[in-house]
Amino acid sequence: MCATCGCGDDGATITLPGHSQPHDHTHPHEHGNDDHHHVDHVHVDNVHTETISLEQKVLAKNDLLAEQNRKWLAERDIVAFNLTSSPGAGKTTLLERTIRDLVSHRPVAVIEGDQETLLDAERIKAAGARAVQVNTGAGCHLDADMVRRALESLDPEPGSILFIENVGNLVCPALFDLGELSKVVVISVTEGDDKPIKYPHMFAAAGLVIVNKTDLLPYVNFDLETCCAYVRSLNPAADILPMSATSGDGSGRWYEWIDVHANSGYVPKTH
Ligand code: MG
Repeated sequence: MCATCGCGDDGATITLPGHSQPHDHTHPHEHGNDDHHHVDHVHVDNVHTETISLEQKVLAKNDLLAEQNRKWLAERDIVAFNLTSSPGAGKTTLLERTIRDLVSHRPVAVIEGDQETLLDAERIKAAGARAVQVNTGAGCHLDADMVRRALESLDPEPGSILFIENVGNLVCPALFDLGELSKVVVISVTEGDDKPIKYPHMFAAAGLVIVNKTDLLPYVNFDLETCCAYVRSLNPAADILPMSATSGDGSGRWYEWIDVHANSGYVPKTH
């Protein structure tokens, strides 16, 4: 996780498209109240032990904030889906189509995560949904605190479906609960069909795996059955849905999946 890879998350900026960015954050360490940076200062002998306890501490703090997000969302009858993928798998294109097709039935809101630029939030807004952009700077994932702050800016309507488009990365986003109902992992057929077993944690955490860009299957060396078998070997409970966000093929089953899960809502924890 990030205590190991060294990326920071306290330099995140949150911007509504159409508004100028509050400030260009170039000095993340000035806001150094985050545990991540302590790892820079430990002695080499202790790095391994310190890193492990730091990971546990960071994740425990995140889990607590994620649970608060979940409660906040449930109180407003909003269901959130956390979309993850490697860069370029088609998350934003999938969301553009989804917004166009669903927004007349139910309000849709989107939190966009990227290291830099407002480009995706602008695309989402143009497609017809309320959107906010989180720029993580050096960070490689969204965390629950960024989502909490983004929700304050976004102010989604009660009853909305909230999509959280994570930073394109199949590693760290697997570990960070954001308060979502389910994680949706998007893999495209232009990637290797062995990606699930290369990044098992992400696929093991998924409620749904979308295999996107199926319109390109005739042109690429991607075996759909092999990919699905790898996903099932890691996560037998995950749904798998081949589709093309560009052509719309398979999108009906995606909307059915959203419907079933959105209507089931959050199940209160019993402990
Ligand atoms: Mg995107």
